[in-house]
Parts: sequence; structure tokens; C-alpha cells
Amino acid sequence: MSNARCGSCSADLSVGELDDGWCSACGKAIAGFVYREAGLKGRKEKALPRAQKTATRLEAPSADPDDAPAKWQLALIGAAMVGIAVVIVLAFL
Ligand SMILES: [Zn+2]
Repeated sequence: MSNARCGSCSADLSVGELDDGWCSACGKAIAGFVYREAGLKGRKEKALPRAQKTATRLEAPSADPDDAPAKWQLALIGAAMVGIAVVIVLAFL
């Protein structure tokens, strides 16, 4: 048991809960000031690299130049936008 209390529900927070960053009593994220008041540096960083890895993996396909839209797709999108613009202009005439 640590000497930290949840900022949302004031439940005593275990070391495991502080590591995870979530209060198991109320299910909310443990706020940063809870760590500061308990004299801790903050949530352990081990969870962050995993999240960053996931984010990198998720955005990797769009960064792949092979996945860039083909020219005919861009042309279709442009034609559609022009068509929408024409419809909007005609609606106000
Ligand atoms: Zn709580």
C-alpha cells in the first residue's frame, strides 16, 4: 500500500495501481498531482513506449509511399469536389 490517494474517489492506491495509472476503485486515471503529493515522480514510463509502439504501427501504413492514392483516385476526388461545389453554387442560384 502506498500513501497515495485517488484524486477522484480518495481510495487508497496500491503500488500496482500507481504503476498502472488507474484507480481500481473508481476506474479513473490517476491524476498527476496524486503522484506529486505522494512524492513520486509519476506514472512509470513502461506503459508509454508500448502505446507509442502501437501508435507507430498504426500510422505506419499511411506513411508508406506505396499506399499513397493513385493519380486516378486523386482525379476522381477532385472531380467529386468540383461536382459538389457546382451543386452548392446551383443551390443558391
Ligand atoms: Zn478512484
